[in-house]
Amino acid sequence: MNFRLSEPQERLRSEVCEFLSQELGTSHTSEPRPMPPGYLPARDFELKLGERGWLALSWPEEYGGGGRPVAEQFIVEEEVALHGGPASDAIARVIVAPILMAKGSEEQKRRYLPGLARGEITFCLGYTEPESGSDLASLQTRAVADGDDYVINGRKVYTSGAEESDYCWLAARTDPDAPKHAGTSVLIVPMKSAGVEVRPLLNLLDEEWFNEVIFEDVRVPRGELVGGENKGWEVLTSALGVERITIYRAFVHMRMLWALVRQAREERGGRRALRQALRAGHRSPHSGQGRPWDDPAVRQRLGELAAEFEVARLLLWRAIGLHERGEEFRAQAAMVKLFNTELAQRLYTAGMGMLGSYATVLGGERALWQGALPHAYLSAVQDTIGAGTSEVQREIIALRGLGLPRG
Ligand SMILES: Cc1cc2nc3c(=O)[nH]c(=O)nc-3n(C[C@H](O)[C@H](O)[C@H](O)COP(=O)(O)OP(=O)(O)OC[C@H]3O[C@@H](n4cnc5c(N)ncnc54)[C@H](O)[C@@H]3O)c2cc1C
Repeated sequence: MNFRLSEPQERLRSEVCEFLSQELGTSHTSEPRPMPPGYLPARDFELKLGERGWLALSWPEEYGGGGRPVAEQFIVEEEVALHGGPASDAIARVIVAPILMAKGSEEQKRRYLPGLARGEITFCLGYTEPESGSDLASLQTRAVADGDDYVINGRKVYTSGAEESDYCWLAARTDPDAPKHAGTSVLIVPMKSAGVEVRPLLNLLDEEWFNEVIFEDVRVPRGELVGGENKGWEVLTSALGVERITIYRAFVHMRMLWALVRQAREERGGRRALRQALRAGHRSPHSGQGRPWDDPAVRQRLGELAAEFEVARLLLWRAIGLHERGEEFRAQAAMVKLFNTELAQRLYTAGMGMLGSYATVLGGERALWQGALPHAYLSAVQDTIGAGTSEVQREIIALRGLGLPRG
């Protein structure tokens, strides 16, 4: 098996690297810093990538894409992550656009895809409700046909980035009498519509990254229905898998592993860390004196994590290969999501343990890497819940991948 990139792919990688080092002033080995998640896109940065055609490399050219292999999109995303750039728009481009391509009308594709490819428009995802999460098909938000419009009433929760989004990709019930999987539809709702109210919710980091969104008598033209009335379930599931391999990428966390290795091995860094920790009134961040590297438990943990990152990389590229060949890859995508999100938690837990209480300083001048480690440690918790919990991923692997019967 050949894991080497082709010549055009290597050229793309160098071009992206050059752009990123100028734009961000960073390299693969610069220090980590706190990062918001991919579902809160940094619009200015996205626009710059969009200008270069790097947001939609694999989309068809007629919709503003580059017509290139899916793998090339991942080369760009990987380099952005390795340079510590803001994660790409995980909702609009990663979830909404592939579904629009598969299920949208020609008119919808022409209206939304070119703007998405340029990074000009953003979507939030209106799926989860207070009583409907993993079992999405039980959702209760109603969309009732009325003349040329649908009238929407209901309440969504955990809607990431709703306050900054142009549109909501909304799952609603259009036939309350049909079996639960059969009576839902997907609608595109402009967030500026009358009757839409966004209320921020606080997460573990005390940040307002997601929201509650209330829809009260919101009118949306029938032309905003995607994939046909009561066809919502087919629409929602048509691009599952793509989001799981694209949003939850292990390479987003690689910089922290390298930073921990540097911190552990460099005598100067180790002493400085120790000095700062002592000055901050903490005990030594690891047992004994000298470098954290001297501790065999630290060496072994870092070695183990490095091996796990290799596994994550191979899992991802296998899923990309299946996806590119048009083969079924949902179980593989579930493995990517499950492994990567749990690996991130293992990495940050190990980092916190290795650097001790010194590492828990989240802000202020004494914070190591501007608090990037505790920030990521707290932030990684939610990733095993969003886009399907770890338990749900394990179910998908068991049922679809291993062919085990439903219990
Ligand atoms: C950071 C973050 C961002 C999010 N962003 C969005 C967003 O933008 N838009 C949106 O619509 N939603 C969003 N969500 C919501 C997310 O999709 C749901 O939280 C998720 O689907 C789980 O639903 P729930 O929270 O209702 O938990 P529940 O479904 O109530 O699950 C509770 C527990 O039961 C377990 N469980 C449930 N069903 C099964 C099963 N069949 N087998 C085994 N165990 C099971 C779960 O694993 C979990 O441990 C986000 C969530 C997070 C954490």
